[in-house]
Amino acid sequence: MIIVMKAQAGEDEIQNVVRMVEQLDYRAHVIRGVERTVVACVGDERGEVHQLQHMESVGGVERVMPVLRSFKLSSREVRPEGSRIVVNGVEIGGRRLTVIAGPCAVESATQVEDAAMAVKRAGAHMLRGGAFKPRTSPYSFQGMEDAGLDLLEAAGRKAGLPVVTEIMDPHDIDLVVAHCDMLQVGARNAQNFSLLRRLGKIAKPVLLKRGMSTRLEEFVMAAEYILSEGNPNVILCERGIRTFETATRNTLDLSAVPLLKEWTHLPVIVDPSHGTGIWSLVMPMALAAVAAGADGLLIEVHPNPEQALSDGPQQLKPKRFADLMTALKPVAEAVNRSL
Ligand code: PEP
Ligand code: MN
Repeated sequence: MIIVMKAQAGEDEIQNVVRMVEQLDYRAHVIRGVERTVVACVGDERGEVHQLQHMESVGGVERVMPVLRSFKLSSREVRPEGSRIVVNGVEIGGRRLTVIAGPCAVESATQVEDAAMAVKRAGAHMLRGGAFKPRTSPYSFQGMEDAGLDLLEAAGRKAGLPVVTEIMDPHDIDLVVAHCDMLQVGARNAQNFSLLRRLGKIAKPVLLKRGMSTRLEEFVMAAEYILSEGNPNVILCERGIRTFETATRNTLDLSAVPLLKEWTHLPVIVDPSHGTGIWSLVMPMALAAVAAGADGLLIEVHPNPEQALSDGPQQLKPKRFADLMTALKPVAEAVNRSL
C-alpha cells in the first residue's frame, strides 16, 4: 500500500504517519516527489491492510491506495515523475543523458588515464573500469583488484569524472565504496540476493545490470532487494540477454527500455558494448537506445583495443567514441534530451 500525503503536509505529519505504519509492523519508505510525498508501506499484506486503509483519516494524508505491482518501491505509481539520481554531482535520469565510458578493465596507470582523458574530452560524464572482473575462465585476467581501484580513482580525479566499478564479493564493499562513486552489479550477480541486500545498506548509488537470462520482472525484483534495505539510488542497465542468436555476443533487448520506464521510476541506461560484443555495432545500437528513451549509455572505450586484456572486440578506440558522441547529439535532441 502507499499513503499519499497532501501537497501541504508538514514534516511532523509525515513522521507521524511513518510511526503509525511501523506500529502496524510494516516498513515505511518515505519517497519525496516534486509535488508530494508518498509513504510506501511494505510488509505482509495478508494481515492488517484494512488498518492501513483507515489511515486516510490521519492528519496530512490525502489517500491510501494499493500498489498493484509486485515491485512496491520501484513502481512508477510511487513516483510518477521518475527518479533523478546524483552520482557525485552527475545526475542520471534528468533531461540530460548520462554517458559513462572507459575500459572494460583497469590494466595499468597509463591505460586507464589515457582512456579517462579521452572520454572526458569527447564529453563523457563518468568513467568506468573494472578492477574485479567476473571472467568465464579462471585462467583469464581477473582484474587488478585493489591496485586497480587506486588507479581508477586517480584517473577519475585527474579527468574530473566520477567513477563506477563492479563489485563481486560482499567482503569488498567497504573497499570499493571508499574508492568509487557508484557500484556496479554485473550480469552474473544480478540475482545474488545477499550481495544486493548488502548494497541496500550503503550510501552510494548502485548500477544494476540485467542478468543474461533474467526476465524484466525478475530484474526489477532484484532492484527491489536493494531499495527495500533502504538505498533508494538504483539505476537499471540493459546489457543484452542470451538468445538462440550467436552472431552477436548477446541480444540487446531495447524494448526493455520503454517497458522498464513504464513500470518503474528508476533511471534506465543501456550498454551496447556487452549488448552486442562487436565494436562496429556499438554506435548504431547506442543511437537506437537513446531513441528508445534510455537515460544514458555505458560504453567500453580502450586506448588500444587490440591489446586489451578483456573484451577487446567490443571496445571503441577513443576517436570512434568521439564520433559516437557527435552522432548522438541530433538523436538526443530529436527525443527532447541533451548531452
Ligand atoms: C562489464 O561491465 O565489464 C561487465 C562485466 O558487464 P556484464 O556484467 O554486463 O557482463
Ligand atoms: Mn567488459
